[in-house]
Amino acid sequence: MLGRARGPSASGGDRVAKGLASFVCPHEYRRSVYDVDARELKRRGIDGLIVDVDNTLVEWDKHEVTTQMEEWFDKARDAGVSCCIVSNSTRASKVSAFARSLGAEFICPATKPLPSSFRSAMRRLGTHSSNTAVIGDQVFTDILGGNALGLRTILVQPVSPREFAWTRLIRKAERLVLRYLKARGLMPGDAPHN
Ligand SMILES: [Mg+2]
Repeated sequence: MLGRARGPSASGGDRVAKGLASFVCPHEYRRSVYDVDARELKRRGIDGLIVDVDNTLVEWDKHEVTTQMEEWFDKARDAGVSCCIVSNSTRASKVSAFARSLGAEFICPATKPLPSSFRSAMRRLGTHSSNTAVIGDQVFTDILGGNALGLRTILVQPVSPREFAWTRLIRKAERLVLRYLKARGLMPGDAPHN
């Protein structure tokens, strides 16, 4: 009785989980952008990389370029992977100066997860969905938007717990979704979520 009752329910649950995963589950989950190897991405056929800024590369609203960051962008360039910084920040002048100092294209303010910003970035990179990856710290902007267009999506843990007030609210829903997907065995390994 119990087995029969649970069968259809489990199947329905699996369908829900897989449906949800297709929208919000990243292909990779890393602790930091510095755990992402551009040469490995290139081997996977990636030629262009869309990179978030706040809490992906730097602490929210701080746009200081570090040596480690410069080296990471240099390695990507050397590997033949072009980068475009795409940020929803409203501080366009800061983000543009930040991107220029890293020698990267940029789009700011963007409207992630809407597809227009991702498409604009791919036009600048000269790439398309199948050879572009996106790296970011937010499921409902970076990953959702990337998955919707069929990009390779890489979730990283936030650089800092310091966040914009709205983002703090979104994080609660994000944590629930990630735990649900992890419990279903749908999250990629590597970085544990908080
Ligand atoms: Mg971010």
